[in-house]
Amino acid sequence: MNKPKIKIEDLGYSEFFKTNYDKLKLSESSVARVIAEHKGAYRIKNENGEYLGKVTGKKMFDALCREDYPAVGDWVVVTELNEDQAVILQTLPRKTILKRKYNNKNETQIIATNVDVVFIVESNGRDFSLNRFERYFAIAKDGGVKPVIVLNKIDLISEEELKLKSKEIKERFEGVDFIPVSTVSKEGLDDLKNYIEKGKTYCFLGSSGVGKSSLINELLKQDIIKTETVSSYHDRGKHATTSRQMYFLENGGIVIDNPGTREVGMADVSEGIDDLFDKITEWSKECKYVDCAHIHEPGCRILLALKEGELTEEQYSNYINLKKEADFFSLNKHEKREKNRQFGKFIKNAKKDLEKLN
Ligand code: GDP
Ligand code: ZN
Repeated sequence: MNKPKIKIEDLGYSEFFKTNYDKLKLSESSVARVIAEHKGAYRIKNENGEYLGKVTGKKMFDALCREDYPAVGDWVVVTELNEDQAVILQTLPRKTILKRKYNNKNETQIIATNVDVVFIVESNGRDFSLNRFERYFAIAKDGGVKPVIVLNKIDLISEEELKLKSKEIKERFEGVDFIPVSTVSKEGLDDLKNYIEKGKTYCFLGSSGVGKSSLINELLKQDIIKTETVSSYHDRGKHATTSRQMYFLENGGIVIDNPGTREVGMADVSEGIDDLFDKITEWSKECKYVDCAHIHEPGCRILLALKEGELTEEQYSNYINLKKEADFFSLNKHEKREKNRQFGKFIKNAKKDLEKLN
């Protein structure tokens, strides 16, 4: 095979991951990035090539929670078995994580990990909604990912309308970068391209139909998404194909586009939430303090609504959870400590399992 040589940094590897990998001091192993997930197996890639990776010794992962299974974007520690296959020993700590929470449940699903910037895409169509951004913002913020607003299909609106919407967006989401674009008129596409940096990972979140594929295809300069599938693994004559889920742009940027990035926004960002935010936004204007957090402040209109039954406990806590300026850095620290504790156990088991493999 005469593949052009790539560097691991081109796949997004950075000091953060290297430090964590070095700490493990695992010999006979290497790191690779998960570029696609497929029926319990993972497509992984490093400077040596692409592999089908499997998590072996279920036990190794049993010690950890569900979220410790690899996800697209993860850096995993592997043992390369041959040119096509590798054994995944473990997932390196994540720099960032995008996950969706299911309403009323404690369950979460990882959308992607180690994403640097999330483009929250909304289009100018009948479903334009500022409230929907809140939900995506919460997802980004919870995971430590920088959000950027991309307003697509500006060819469908007049200049005045665009000015108005831009103003609305900038007022509501102060300090957040905002890129108006159109894949039809090509306006703003250079701004989007210029935003993308070499070795950084990006993800597009937004409801179906807002133009995520069109935008990614523009960045790729080819219509790849929705058409291309790659032959992933040959096993006893069986031939499986996997849709690509990670794309490498000419300028060195990396884009994750997987089912998770597409599902968010349909079930999660329901009309109900939109209405709720409208109501609460209105109410909050009547709070005594402009910077009211609606938690214990006197003269809070939202707490009054709660007391009066205009708002249910559940709606209130949903809202607070979404709005919470969660100190995710300290949260992560705590999580990290807990993980570290389990990590020791994990390494011991991993070594045992490796011995069995030999
Ligand atoms: P996705 O579901 O978010 O991936 O959206 P798609 O990229 O599949 O786009 C949905 C539809 O919007 C398609 O019919 C596109 O041709 C159309 N579309 C995408 N970008 C634009 C745009 O900038 N302007 C207009 N008018 N239509 C667009
Ligand atoms: Zn209040």
